[in-house]
Amino acid sequence: MDTTITAGRAQARGWRAVYLPVQSIPYWGLHLGAAYGIYALGVSWSALGWTAAMYAVRMFFITGVYHRYFSHRTYKTSRWFQFVLAFCAQATAQKGVLWWAGHHRRHHKHSDTELDVHSPLFGGFWWSHMGWMIGRDFEGTDQVVVKDFMKYPELRALERFWFILPVAIGVTSFLIGGWWGLTFAFALPQVLSWHGTFTINSLSHVWGGRRYASGDDSRNNPVLALITLGEGWPNNHHHYQSSARQGFFWWEVDITFYGLKALEAVGLIWDVRGVPAHVRDATLSASPPRDADVDERVIEKHAA
Ligand SMILES: [Zn+2]
Ligand SMILES: [Zn+2]
Repeated sequence: MDTTITAGRAQARGWRAVYLPVQSIPYWGLHLGAAYGIYALGVSWSALGWTAAMYAVRMFFITGVYHRYFSHRTYKTSRWFQFVLAFCAQATAQKGVLWWAGHHRRHHKHSDTELDVHSPLFGGFWWSHMGWMIGRDFEGTDQVVVKDFMKYPELRALERFWFILPVAIGVTSFLIGGWWGLTFAFALPQVLSWHGTFTINSLSHVWGGRRYASGDDSRNNPVLALITLGEGWPNNHHHYQSSARQGFFWWEVDITFYGLKALEAVGLIWDVRGVPAHVRDATLSASPPRDADVDERVIEKHAA
């Protein structure tokens, strides 16, 4: 993959190439389908319930797996459960876990600089929100950055066929629930989970407070933390990436972390990492800790 492409160079191709490539037809199609479904079928309590439940399940796997496991290694698990986690995460239609983690690691390395794949400062709001993801410039996987996971053939296979599971879920929703099922158990929660996640790249580097001098523009935002089940504390997270919890204090709601603690309690995952007190108690004026979690040494160690 060409790692020198910047937001500016990608956008120079024009808005059609960025926002309307052929590959984006399913993406935009689900938006139209969800909107038409709401219009044609109307909204009921059970529609809201299904949408909320399917949204929450997706969001847990996005934050707890793509982000806190494959990108940051904030907990450990067995090889078979690692596969299960990847399988479930990819059902949320944010491409392969290796693709996701590779871009995310690069985001941390170059956060809010020209080399950051989705910085609102360099690409603008819509670019950081979704342009970088639906456009074609970043569709390759940064294999070097994720070589610690590239060594698993089962993950590489899953990566190639990531789209099969979302399609299967859509088909199943239709077979069981007809157009109603397709709308409220699939299309609508899928679209909402995309935009819920994307706010972390767009809004959360713009809106909110800063507790730590994280060396970038990341901000904490309790509303986004609720919407994303705990990803609304990116200033905490950019300050210290190695923690499985992003709400550093009890009042910073982080539902994904509670879910991970439940998986730990039943023994499916372990070594769920917290945040050391001295790191948590640092202030805005303190220099950021050099967090070695996903740096080259760690990746080398796990790739060996
Ligand atoms: Zn991260
Ligand atoms: Zn970030």
